[in-house]
Order: sequence, then C-alpha cells, then structure tokens
Amino acid sequence: MAIKRWEIPVFDSIDAQRLYIKEHLAASCVALGELGFDNGVSGLLSVRDPEFLDHFWLSPYGVAFGDVSVSKLVEVNINGITLSGDYPINDDEFVTHSAVYSLRTDVMSVVHAHTMYAEAYSTLGVLLDPITYEACAFYKDHSIYTDFELSFGTVEEAKNIAYTLGENKACILQNHGLITVGQTIDEAVWWLISMERSCKAQILADSCGKPLRIANDIAEARAEKVGSAFSGWLNFQPLYSKAVSKFPFLLQ
Ligand SMILES: [Zn+2]
Repeated sequence: MAIKRWEIPVFDSIDAQRLYIKEHLAASCVALGELGFDNGVSGLLSVRDPEFLDHFWLSPYGVAFGDVSVSKLVEVNINGITLSGDYPINDDEFVTHSAVYSLRTDVMSVVHAHTMYAEAYSTLGVLLDPITYEACAFYKDHSIYTDFELSFGTVEEAKNIAYTLGENKACILQNHGLITVGQTIDEAVWWLISMERSCKAQILADSCGKPLRIANDIAEARAEKVGSAFSGWLNFQPLYSKAVSKFPFLLQ
C-alpha cells in the first residue's frame, strides 16, 4: 500500500501498538549503532508500554546497539524490576529514565547516550545557540544539568536531572552526554541524533570564528516547525526503513 501522507499511526489493538513500539525501539538502537553512537555498555533507550503505563521496554545492557532485536528487549516496572526478557538492564541509567517518566507523564520514550560531539560540547557548561535551522528545534527547549554528585545513578540525582529537564525535550548532562524525550521512541531518538549534529555544528562553527545567531523571532518560528513532536517522529522514518531493510533480524 502506497504511503500518500506521513502520519503517526494509530492502532486497533494494544498488541499491534506494543509490537510497533518494540520494533521501532529495536530499530532505534540499530540506527544509533550505524551512526557509531555506541560507547561500550553506556547508553539506554526506553519506551513506555502502551497498556501498562508504569511498565517500560528497554534496550538490553551489554549488547551492542547494532545487535539489538525485538526479542532482546527487556520489560521492567518503574522500579527497574525485570518482568520479561533474558538480558540485564543498565540500572544506573534506568534510575534517571524512571525519574523522568515519574515526573513527565506525557513522556512515552527516553533516550540517553554518550555521543562524541555532545560529550565534548557538554564540557562547556552552556546551552546550544540557534545557529542552524536544525538547532532551532532546541531553542528554548533544552536545559543543562551541572550539579553532578559523587555517584551517578542515585535516586536523588536522577530526580534532580528530571527536574532540570523540566518541560524540555532535551537536557545536556554536563561532562556526560545527552538525554532526550518524546511522545514516541522515533521522536526521542531523533532528538538525540539531531542534538548530536547540532553540538557538532556549534563546535565546528565556534572553531572557525564567531557564528551568527538566528534572530530570536525566526528561531521561535523554526522551532515550531522543526521542533514539533511530529517533525521528530517523521525525521526518524527514513532511518527506520533503512535499518529494517539493511538488518531485518532486528524485527525478530
Ligand atoms: Zn550515561
């Protein structure tokens, strides 16, 4: 059947919706792997179950992003207790995801990774400027968390990160990486990809001179378009199709 217009799908059954988000979660992992966003065992992608809203599907711990498939996903509750799945989970990083889901009932997916340019940019301790149309997606819609405690992964710190994220779509974790959220896994993972690209653009521009900021009113107008939940979802669809066609095992 030909696709005449891109729309976020709606489902007749919970089972169909659950399968869709699990396939898109697995494809998100593989897409990040293709982009070289693996970093050992670091990083975690999660999505809220469509029926049991305090259950979550997670990327498996210790599996390369590029090797993730639907059958390797792990289902946990809000406390990180495994309900189904054969792999361990990244407990330290799920604590933060759990805090975000508790605070933001609108959030259906959380993505966290240690990507190279975001890591480098995060050390500056400043927000991204609206210097490209793409970066406008984050204009007045991201924050930076600067108050790291001694040990990452405590409940207290996870709550602080969630509060710092606030109503934004993304948060720069200083000296660490990025955390992004969305109404779909597609949207959340696209914001991570797009923010990594925006960090790279800002680092490259800053290294050459003094980049010109897009005027505030134009940045706000662009943000409404490129920064919408639909735009985030839509931008991931080519990556989903490419991941599935190149690595069909991910659906198994
Ligand atoms: Zn991390």
